[in-house]
Amino acid sequence: MSAISKSLVQKLKAAFPELHIVTPDSPDYAKSIERNIKNTQKPAGVVVYATSTKDVASLVEFTGANSLDVAVCGAGHSRIGASSTNGGVCIDLSKMQAISVDTNTNHITVQGGAVLQDVYMAVEKYGLALVGGLCSNVGIGGFALMGGYGWLTGAHGLAVDNIVRAEIVLADGSVVIASRSENPDLYWAIRGAGPCFGIATSIVFQGFVQGPVWSGELTFSPAALGALVEFANHVLNVSKGESSMVMIQGQLPGSTEPLVVVEVFYNGTEDEAKGFFAPLLKLGPIKDSTKMMPFSQTTGGGDDIPPGFGKGTGGGIMEPIDADFVESLYEDYLTFIKNVPDASESLIAYEIHPTYGTLLHSQNETAFPNRGTFGNVVIYAAYTKDESAPACEEWCRKMHDKIHNDFERRKEVDGVDDTTKTGVGLGESPKRLYGVNYERLVRIKRIYDPQNVFNKCVDLLKESEESSIIQ
Ligand SMILES: Cc1cc2nc3c(=O)[nH]c(=O)nc-3n(C[C@H](O)[C@H](O)[C@H](O)COP(=O)(O)OP(=O)(O)OC[C@H]3O[C@@H](n4cnc5c(N)ncnc54)[C@H](O)[C@@H]3O)c2cc1C
Repeated sequence: MSAISKSLVQKLKAAFPELHIVTPDSPDYAKSIERNIKNTQKPAGVVVYATSTKDVASLVEFTGANSLDVAVCGAGHSRIGASSTNGGVCIDLSKMQAISVDTNTNHITVQGGAVLQDVYMAVEKYGLALVGGLCSNVGIGGFALMGGYGWLTGAHGLAVDNIVRAEIVLADGSVVIASRSENPDLYWAIRGAGPCFGIATSIVFQGFVQGPVWSGELTFSPAALGALVEFANHVLNVSKGESSMVMIQGQLPGSTEPLVVVEVFYNGTEDEAKGFFAPLLKLGPIKDSTKMMPFSQTTGGGDDIPPGFGKGTGGGIMEPIDADFVESLYEDYLTFIKNVPDASESLIAYEIHPTYGTLLHSQNETAFPNRGTFGNVVIYAAYTKDESAPACEEWCRKMHDKIHNDFERRKEVDGVDDTTKTGVGLGESPKRLYGVNYERLVRIKRIYDPQNVFNKCVDLLKESEESSIIQ
């Protein structure tokens, strides 16, 4: 797949006269290739703003016929630059954001370029919510087709578990439906590896009746870490999804020392929430922004991820979470930010979404195989100068290995159930990322995208087991 030449740009403009097409000499070029993390930006040869399924299909036909490199951009939050191209064609979906609700079935139909906050706001008018993420401006396509964790995961599973059907533009430009009854193999594959199979121009989700919730941030000093981990284990132990929390260690903008911010969520009344979270409230948070709010206002925590350059990785953290292990990751973090002061806004985040919802589904019910009795830990090295990149990458690699080794060790010593045993944790090579589902995924990939046109998110046909743990 190659970069686009000047003559092909002219041909593209002639073929799509009604579309907004941005080239390196356009005034809005810099904006069109901007991504959430600076080092994931790449100089596209051309950015085309599709407005309909027909546009997307014709564009894919055009790029295929001319063997051009293609990137698909939802809202640009990929941590690995999966929505960027070096000199190729970027199909930007940001003009495809329609959202509609079927009030008989509570099905929510979302065009492939919508962002989470808009979806939450639109469906709230109908008293509904869906499994969506914690960051307001993440794109629905990238979020939902690769898994998708959010406040409702504890109760209803992942975003992929709630996809009813999707309209997909395949690599040859054809448009198909993926659902339980139409192309069921594709339906299985897109629920966990969607970006590897085509462009989802629309996705239908199961929505849930939803009232106001109790949520917000509780900020603690790192001395509270042990008690916080103890409470996180309580959440994992007892919750069937009504409560959830995310614990972030880091030096927040404006603070001069690392703190622990706990984003909390309770799907019920204020009294119930305060009763459940009493052990945390009694610890005496330095700051407390918790209150009752509409579900659509529970995003924002993810928005705090520092802008600029970033490297990230992650893994699974076994239940019950070991406070000593968390302390030791924190010690590593302190050493790292001392050695690399430019990276002082780096973060470690523990996603404590109760596993009740994800375990309602088996490991191979969808292509997503990261189910088990564990939470996720996300490592994010944030920096401002290019020269800090190697040190940040090295830290991520060390943290990844430490988390991964402990995860695998705990599988053995804890004698976990079969689902947990095959859980993969975040941030691995394609083969390890899809674990027990890998072979089947590759077989389906060879049917729907044999030329490997869609390879930027995960290169499923890459033979090597080389790990892409730094994202
Ligand atoms: C600040 C931040 C907060 C986050 N919070 C959460 C969270 O709470 N829960 C969670 O699970 N994840 C979270 N994530 C991870 C996030 O869901 C993924 O990075 C996701 O891929 C971003 O989607 P996007 O459309 O914004 O990004 P993009 O970079 O535009 O796309 C990511 C990948 O998806 C592909 N893609 C996008 N749209 C489509 C489509 N319609 N059809 C086919 N392929 C498509 C792109 O080609 C690319 O390969 C977060 C990430 C960040 C940076």
